[in-house]
Amino acid sequence: MTKSTLNLTPSLYEYLLSHSGREHPLLKELREITASDEMARMQISPEQGQFMQLLVKLMGAKQIVEVGTFTGYSALAMAMAMPKEGRIICCDLDKKWTDIAQQSWKKAGVEDKTELILAPAEETLSSLLKAGRARSFDLIFVDADKESYDTYFELSLRLLRPGGLLLIDNTLWGGSVIDQQKQDPDTKAIRALNLKLQQDSRIELSHLPIADGLTLCLKK
Ligand code: CA
Repeated sequence: MTKSTLNLTPSLYEYLLSHSGREHPLLKELREITASDEMARMQISPEQGQFMQLLVKLMGAKQIVEVGTFTGYSALAMAMAMPKEGRIICCDLDKKWTDIAQQSWKKAGVEDKTELILAPAEETLSSLLKAGRARSFDLIFVDADKESYDTYFELSLRLLRPGGLLLIDNTLWGGSVIDQQKQDPDTKAIRALNLKLQQDSRIELSHLPIADGLTLCLKK
């Protein structure tokens, strides 16, 4: 036995999915539709979606913001897990990808729970604050341009209620966080945020090695 997290071999990962995966047929369908896109790797993994659904249910989250929607998998997963009155605001810039998202939300009957805003997420988050939505969200999922992660973190922290949860995706960044050869802006931004989060007394912190790394920040 090792103290560190088990290294998932492809067959062990397959076992994990086949013995605990409960991916909804419409989520599976959306995964298949997205697979042909050259950016398909931007979609979250099925076990991460399932974990996020569990978190949404655990918290009884009704007010959610998503920064970075892509073809809508994570929003669909969370919307399915929310109660009927739940609402998720989805921030993205890309019409082509989010058209796919909106079609899948409609097909799943969750379109009334979703609101897509095509604009820079920093603007959307700032306008939510200006509209008096500070401290009103249960959960925020950040999975967008990495250079803006710190900006999204700070704005999200203001939008979350105390006890609200911020999920930040790709925080292990394919292992680049420990590769000193990698000095590109995205990698540096993730490294800087990880370091900052460890020392930030405004949050409780857990950094999970699920998929590409998922950081959970609970607002105190
Ligand atoms: Ca991601």
